[in-house]
Amino acid sequence: MSTSRIVKIAVPCPLYKTFDYRLSNTVFAQKLIPGMRMRVSFGRQQLTGFFIEETTASDIADNKLKPVISVLDDRNFLSDEVLKLLLWAARYYVHPLGDVLQTALPVYLRNHEDATPSLTPYWSTCSHPDLTPDEVLTSLKRAPKQLQIYQLLLQEKGDADSLSEATDNWRAPIKALLEKKFIRQQFKPVVLHGNADSDKRPSLTDEQVDAVDGISKQLDTYAIHVLNGVTGSGKTEVYLALCETALAQGKQVLILVPEIGLTPQLTQRFLQRLDTSIVVLHSAMNDRQRYAAWHAAANRQAQVVIGTRSSIFTPLPDIGLIIVDEEHDGSYKQQDGFRYNARDLAIVRAKNKNIPVLLGSATPSLEVLNKINEQRYQVHYLRQRANKKALPKISLVNLCSQKLQESMADSLLQKIRQHLDRQGQVLLFINRRGFSPLLMCHDCGWTTSCHRCDAHMTYHKRREQLHCHHCGSQRPAPQLCDECGSSNILAIGAGTERIENFLQAQFPETKVSRIDRDTTRNKGALQDKLDKAHSGESGILVGTQMLAKGHDFPNVTLVCILDTDQALFSADFRAAEHLAQLITQVSGRAGRAEKAGEVLIQTHHPDHPLLQTLLHKGYQAFADAALSERRAAGLPPARHLVLLRCESVTVDAAQQFLQEAVTLARTVDLQDIDLFGPLPAPMERRAGRYRYQLMVQSKQRKKLHPFLSWWVPQLQQLKSARKVRWSIDVDPYDTF
Ligand code: ADP
Ligand code: ZN
Ligand code: ZN
Repeated sequence: MSTSRIVKIAVPCPLYKTFDYRLSNTVFAQKLIPGMRMRVSFGRQQLTGFFIEETTASDIADNKLKPVISVLDDRNFLSDEVLKLLLWAARYYVHPLGDVLQTALPVYLRNHEDATPSLTPYWSTCSHPDLTPDEVLTSLKRAPKQLQIYQLLLQEKGDADSLSEATDNWRAPIKALLEKKFIRQQFKPVVLHGNADSDKRPSLTDEQVDAVDGISKQLDTYAIHVLNGVTGSGKTEVYLALCETALAQGKQVLILVPEIGLTPQLTQRFLQRLDTSIVVLHSAMNDRQRYAAWHAAANRQAQVVIGTRSSIFTPLPDIGLIIVDEEHDGSYKQQDGFRYNARDLAIVRAKNKNIPVLLGSATPSLEVLNKINEQRYQVHYLRQRANKKALPKISLVNLCSQKLQESMADSLLQKIRQHLDRQGQVLLFINRRGFSPLLMCHDCGWTTSCHRCDAHMTYHKRREQLHCHHCGSQRPAPQLCDECGSSNILAIGAGTERIENFLQAQFPETKVSRIDRDTTRNKGALQDKLDKAHSGESGILVGTQMLAKGHDFPNVTLVCILDTDQALFSADFRAAEHLAQLITQVSGRAGRAEKAGEVLIQTHHPDHPLLQTLLHKGYQAFADAALSERRAAGLPPARHLVLLRCESVTVDAAQQFLQEAVTLARTVDLQDIDLFGPLPAPMERRAGRYRYQLMVQSKQRKKLHPFLSWWVPQLQQLKSARKVRWSIDVDPYDTF
């Protein structure tokens, strides 16, 4: 009997292959299951890899094979189904398998065994049996650290994260306070339990009934359904009804949402409507919480998972339905490392498992609309808003030769005043953070360009700083021109901060609230701002696209989109699609409740065909036109696109690598595959590196992917690859 076996292990490293190891029967004698984690030595370090398969022969001589140090699991807790999805994804996105598997696993498991996770404790003040609150405070006078923490907890209950954020060395004082019975400890459950309130359930509209029936009669087979419903048409009600049916059949449901900001809203609605167990998964949770939620889903303690992008990899033994909300949203695409698209993987997962997947959107992506045209996806329409309110009237504000104040036309300001006078809320949308996108010297024309990027540094007035939004560089805002020393420095253009300041000065009676990444960085800040928007405390909301997504503000009657011209002439092939989606989505925020809504779009190009089609014929007509443009240009979805990106401190090194990549590719018969480039990226220099790219295009995936599987691993062998950073992006979201 042999005493050892040879195993192929996927090790998290940048290489496109598995590695052979020897597994001694004294280390592990049981059955091997693909996906099991194994500790191995790799170079000079020890890593955790994943067992893929057993083999009888290795290219490496027997005595050179390194041993497996230990086997961490007795099963594959990624689950066979998720493993299959990941194996597929590693091939499709041409990404090293070990890294793909590691990405899919909760970070917590990199350093821990899989066990029932302990719950997260939190602490809050409680009333003391003998002492009054004042006496408690007095008694803590001589223990200042305990007093500080007690006062923190008086304001708000705290957990390890929030306490660490506020102060250090809090564990001992917490213990002391617990012993004195001044505070108590409770545990945050990860699994939330719904409590259906039948009063909250509306009777479905005819269109909703059709969609629910159409999908639920095929719950047992793979099909791709699209729910194309205008904003406010009640798509979430359709999701709820389908979940009810699936849950009643004992199935688990996975719901993908684009943004962390939207999960609390959706989760609340689910909890109010379904008597079920729900876990939430998103990036703002700590490693332990995420693992706990993942574990609950994998062990059938949660029937519903609501999560962002990476939750597509959650093991769900009874998965019976996948819903992808706001299917068109860019956040489903991972933009670095393993560059998967969670929407597309949802489809693959549904196919593997023979279950339906539902893609919902008011503005489906051109990819999805193209598949509907080809009759590959089944579409269900919700053309009417659930409350029967008309969609708002959209008009263009022609900026040409108009007097502007902080990028806003007088007519727009008058409209804002009118709506505020009638107690409506106003939402202004501008896709640029900061005070102004650059500073300029009025005497010599010097501008605040970033030293490391082909871009300007944005001026942030409150902090008196310049920030480069591309590389993260920061410096104090200059008082004098770097070139000529003049103090005559102008802020050119407007961002959210400038609009906020200006409107607050114009409308001193109204509270102006800014919602962008800068004002919502602190924990709870976004929720706080959203609450104030809902309660009507803030009359004007100024925000970036964070505001465009899914939030329901019933009192908003006027929506203004301040900058469209940039997107109309962008180098990015998806810019027009994104602009149309944005306009349509943001417009959906107006006039949701009793009051009729109005949308104003500022532009210097009111005759632009994109705007004309969108306004007069709607998103679908725009999409049809955009699709035929993409066909004419040979761009996705008409043809499939892969980008080989490369960056280096010298232009030569970047170009040489890509040129060698072209030469290598041309050594084979490239029928039906086209290569374009090397070309500079639209922003050629970023963070001090020159960026070049090669486009690989084909109409046929059957030709494209076998080529990539051959080509990409060999790129690693090129000598010129050592001097550059490169990556492959299959189905890229943008070409920057
Ligand atoms: P969407 O997700 O399509 O934007 P929602 O599902 O959020 O739309 O629904 C918009 C609003 O309409 C919500 O307040 C919801 O409660 C309400 N609603 C949805 N369907 C119905 C219905 N059949 N009857 C009454 N109200 C409904
Ligand atoms: Zn100057
Ligand atoms: Zn920069």
